[in-house]
Amino acid sequence: MAYVINEDTCIGCGSCEGVCPVSCISATDEGKYTIEEDTCISCGACAGVCPVEAIAE
Ligand code: SF4
Ligand code: SF4
Repeated sequence: MAYVINEDTCIGCGSCEGVCPVSCISATDEGKYTIEEDTCISCGACAGVCPVEAIAE
C-alpha cells in the first residue's frame, strides 16, 4: 500500500520530496506534488514532514 498525496490540500512546499529515501515524489505541472506508487516503500517519512497533513496511506 503506497502513500498518496491529496492535491487539493497540498501547498507545494516540497518538504516531502526532500525526505523520501527512494525519490519517488515529484512536482506536478500544477505546482503540487505526487507519489509514484509503484516505487513507494510506505516508510511514512513524507507524511511526517507535511505541514498540512496532505499525505496518507
Ligand atoms: S512513504 Fe516513504 S517511500 Fe513512500 S513516498 Fe513517502 S517518503 Fe517516499
Ligand atoms: S509536504 Fe505536504 S504540502 Fe508540502 S509538497 Fe509535500 S504533500 Fe504538499
